[in-house]
Amino acid sequence: MEMYDIKPTIFTYKQFYEKLSAIQNNTFNQFSVIKHKEIGESSCGFPLEHYTIGNGDIHICYMAGAHGNEIIGVSYILHLMRNLALGRGEFASFRPDLFTIHFLPCQNPEGYFTTTYALEAVMKELSLEERTKFCYDYYATYREENVEIEKINQILRECIFNQEENYMKEIVRLFWSSVYKKCVGIKEIVEFLKNYSPKEVDVSKVEIFWKKNFGNRKINTYQKRYQEPFCNLTIDCIPEVDEKHRILKKKLQKLYGAKEFPMCTLANFLANADGVNLNDNNPYYFKIMNEQIKKEGILCANPMYNYPKSKLGPIGTTSVSCKHFSYAPENLALLNFLDQLGNSCYAFFNLHGTGGYLYVEPFYEEKQQPRDFSFYINNRIATEYLKGIEETYVEKTGKREEYFTMSYPSRITGLADMLRSKYSGHFLVELSRSGGNPIGPFIEPNYTLTMEANFKAFCKSLDVVLELVPLYEKSYLVQYDKKGKVFYEVQSRKRNLKKDYCE
Ligand SMILES: [Zn+2]
Repeated sequence: MEMYDIKPTIFTYKQFYEKLSAIQNNTFNQFSVIKHKEIGESSCGFPLEHYTIGNGDIHICYMAGAHGNEIIGVSYILHLMRNLALGRGEFASFRPDLFTIHFLPCQNPEGYFTTTYALEAVMKELSLEERTKFCYDYYATYREENVEIEKINQILRECIFNQEENYMKEIVRLFWSSVYKKCVGIKEIVEFLKNYSPKEVDVSKVEIFWKKNFGNRKINTYQKRYQEPFCNLTIDCIPEVDEKHRILKKKLQKLYGAKEFPMCTLANFLANADGVNLNDNNPYYFKIMNEQIKKEGILCANPMYNYPKSKLGPIGTTSVSCKHFSYAPENLALLNFLDQLGNSCYAFFNLHGTGGYLYVEPFYEEKQQPRDFSFYINNRIATEYLKGIEETYVEKTGKREEYFTMSYPSRITGLADMLRSKYSGHFLVELSRSGGNPIGPFIEPNYTLTMEANFKAFCKSLDVVLELVPLYEKSYLVQYDKKGKVFYEVQSRKRNLKKDYCE
């Protein structure tokens, strides 16, 4: 028997609920799975499901599906729940008396179900073999186009030589915004450079570069080759199963009515059905984005889907109204849930899609006294989490396959940044090393490896939390004597543990 039960399944609406119910009712479970009242619901009425395994005082949360197109996260949570409940492999030594693991399997059901319905509409007739090939072709074309973008970024960087990194990043971003809905070629690059390059533009350099890499071809920024298999999609790919689905369809019709976004984006739908991006949906980024829109008019997402993120749509913007900020119901539910959990939450993992990154570093107020141990706690958990992933890769492939930690940005742009600034032990994990949301990460052996590596990381992080428990409740004062010698005085933070959270 295989150690873990992991199959590369895309869980559509029906399969998602069937799987959850099968996990909960499995008579072979070693640890019982408790279904709780939903933490809230989306504006279409989809419940935000909540389950737990274990009933210890140390609460740890796993949430996936904030971005609807990052479907690997939802699959991961379902696999984790099933294998943990069965006590498979390393989960055999799980301690339900110490830990309560919370699962929020899908924070953005509207975006997730839209993406998976759209995928199914195109893929349902395919045999298992054809599905594998379909995912692989998608991934390969995605890679190819990503490499093309990187090459164009490189020529921009070479032409605007000798500038600092943040300036270069900004130039690259402005370039892709400037070619929104256009095809890119020599002319577009030269015109852009004339406005931004501090020196005379070397036109022949751009020409030689272009001919060498792209010949006579132009690069379409609006229609991507990797999205072609989905170009015939319509909103009718959403079945009218119930009232929730009918509202979802209506909202999608509204978003696509202005023809600002191609229909293929139904299969790559990040936002909720109101067109709000749940990570961008925070008051800090709302302010930043509004200032940028004032300056630049339209703001585009990354060049792999070069559509406006300053408008309600599949990429999603910061708030339903561009005038007044408001939280999306899915985020309100999450913030409420975390508030209720309070200090009993020792770690929170917000699972996203691709890139193999762990966003870790907390915001750190240098002058704040006394200081708590958040910084140390975060880095210890992160280090062990990454070690867990690496051990699995080394064991299975014989080569070192690194995941990376991302340090925090200089300002809060995502909801995840906001949570990290508020709580210790909050992480955003980009689960898969492989790119190409939504289906790129579903190619074997990457899929199974991603699951197993993150299982290992899960076990490691529980061990670390257990070691660090006393530190969560302590803070320290730093004092210097006249000779500059440092004294640390450790104090109690008097954490109020809410032990009775679980009904
Ligand atoms: Zn994401």
